[in-house]
Amino acid sequence: MDDLSLGTRNKRGDWAPTAPLEVAPFWQRPLSLRKVLAWVPGYFWPWNLFHMATALAWWAWVVPDQQTLKTLSWGWALYLYAVNAAAIFLFYGGIELFWYVVRKQGNRFKYNAKFPGEQPSDVFWFKSQNLDNFLRSFLVSIPLWTLVEVLFLWVFANGYVPWLSWQAHWPWLIALTLLAPALHEVHFFCIHWLIHQGVLYKYVHSVHHNSVNPSPWSSLSMHPVEAFLYHAVALWHLVLPSNPLLALFQLHLAGFGAVNGHIGFDRLELTEDMPLTTHAYAHYLHHKYFEVNYGGDGLIPLDRWFGTWHDGTKAGDARMEARFQRKKAKLNG
Ligand SMILES: [Zn+2]
Ligand SMILES: [Zn+2]
Repeated sequence: MDDLSLGTRNKRGDWAPTAPLEVAPFWQRPLSLRKVLAWVPGYFWPWNLFHMATALAWWAWVVPDQQTLKTLSWGWALYLYAVNAAAIFLFYGGIELFWYVVRKQGNRFKYNAKFPGEQPSDVFWFKSQNLDNFLRSFLVSIPLWTLVEVLFLWVFANGYVPWLSWQAHWPWLIALTLLAPALHEVHFFCIHWLIHQGVLYKYVHSVHHNSVNPSPWSSLSMHPVEAFLYHAVALWHLVLPSNPLLALFQLHLAGFGAVNGHIGFDRLELTEDMPLTTHAYAHYLHHKYFEVNYGGDGLIPLDRWFGTWHDGTKAGDARMEARFQRKKAKLNG
């Protein structure tokens, strides 16, 4: 597929989409019913359905029975870690392998022309972004993902919070399922904005931002504080009346879904004529410019409401520059 029909490439070889990023259509004015209807399939397919499918699979085949979950033990906790780690190894590793190692698509639709493997840097463990990001994912973030999982399963199993059944509460549980991606976006925006402030950025979040040119392994390359806060989104299901399957779905939206912002390609060509939209550009711009796009891709447009939205256009650049200038002027008194 010709990527220049949908975008432009600069002298450095970096590709950018021509169409500006848009927030979800129900936030746009004038409201267009046609646009809202056209948006619905993409809300489900493929990413959110994929996260739901993995949550269902874990629930059916991985999560131990309620009796086992009642007692905390290393046995089932380590088993959950092993399955989560193996799944991420296959899922993220598969994208790395085909798009970053074999480079089946070359740099068609790739925002940054360079591949991280070609750029050794002192900021990374062993000077390698890939190795650094990989080790942080498996030694830090996936253990903390699993810790959150163990916590909510144990709390539900012991009846410390209500465990709503699907038979009795299906309308609410379906509504909560549909809202889970929005909850993810609000939670992520809040903790992400927080760790961009002062010492939290310096000691915590800068670890993630070392990857200016992210690849799939960058997704979960986090400081432990960030990794816990990020996955803790699932703990909202202990506060809202919910069900452990939905908490698991919420957790998978975070853990597996982290890859979306870090794929580095606008479309993954599964085959030449079957491109899969990645929704990666908003978060790519965040890695490029730092203080824009703290949230996701505009399902709940908090960035627009707080003035930090960058839609990828020249006008977006100008708005960002003006904001940085105002901030500088304020700091200089
Ligand atoms: Zn990121
Ligand atoms: Zn950030």
